[in-house]
Amino acid sequence: MKALKIQNVEKTFGSIKVLKGIDLEIEPGQFLILVGPSGCGKSTLLNMIAGLESVSNGNITIGDRDVTHLDPKDRDIAMVFQSYALYPNMTVKQNISFGLEINKTPKDELEATVAKVAKMLQIEPLLNRKPKQLSGGQRQRVAMGRALARDPSIYLFDEPLSNLDAKLRVEMRSEIKELHQRVGTTIVYVTHDQIEAMTLGDVIAVMKDGEIQQFGSPQDIYDNPKNQFVAGFMGSPS
Ligand code: ADP
Ligand code: MG
Repeated sequence: MKALKIQNVEKTFGSIKVLKGIDLEIEPGQFLILVGPSGCGKSTLLNMIAGLESVSNGNITIGDRDVTHLDPKDRDIAMVFQSYALYPNMTVKQNISFGLEINKTPKDELEATVAKVAKMLQIEPLLNRKPKQLSGGQRQRVAMGRALARDPSIYLFDEPLSNLDAKLRVEMRSEIKELHQRVGTTIVYVTHDQIEAMTLGDVIAVMKDGEIQQFGSPQDIYDNPKNQFVAGFMGSPS
C-alpha cells in the first residue's frame, strides 16, 4: 500500500489552470520534496492533500482511503506552515497539546505525549513559556511539536524554514532530517530551495507551471536531469 497517491489532480482558479494533471505516489516512510519556483503550484498541491483547497479534478488517496472530498480533520495529516501560527495566549505546552484536548485524549496520555515530543525536540525547558518569549527557531520547533503530538500518517510542511536566518535554517534542516530518520514518518515537504530539496528528500518532484517536470531520487535528478529547466533549477553541471 502506498502512503499517498495523487492521480491526475487538477486545480483551476477561475479560468486559470494552476495544476495540470499531477500524478505522484510515495511509499510509507518516504520524505517527498515538492520543489520549484515561486508560483508553480507547490502550496496549492499541498493544501489539496491537506483538504484546505478543493480538488477540481482527480483523486487523492492516503493509505487505503480516498480522501479527495474529506474534511481536513478526517484526513489523518498534520501541517506545519511557514508562519508558525502558534496560539499567542497559550503556553508552549498548551500549544502542543491543544489538538489532543479537542480529541479528548485522556490526561495521563496527553502528559506523556507532550513530554515525549518536548524531549524529541529539546524544548523541555520552554514548556511554560508563551510564544512571544521564544526565538524564531524555538517557535518553529513548537509548531513541529504540535504536529508530532498528533502522530498523523503524513506530515505536510510548507516552506517551514523560510522565515529563519541562514544559520538556523541549516541547523533546523538537519534536525528535521534526523527526526525523520528516527521516527520514520511519511513527509511531504514544499520548498523553493534546491539545497534543502537535495539534502532532505528521499524523492523529489521538480515542478514548473503546474506540472511535474521530473520525479526521482536527488542523485538521479542531479545526475540525469530530464530537461534544461530541471538542470538549471537543480544546479546540475552542464
Ligand atoms: P507556490 O506555492 O509554488 O509558490 P501557489 O500554489 O501558491 O505556488 O500558487 C500557484 C498559482 O496559483 C499562482 O499563480 C497563484 O497566483 C495562484 N493561486 C494560488 N491561490 C490562488 C487563489 N486562491 N485564487 C487564485 N489564484 C491562486
Ligand atoms: Mg507556496
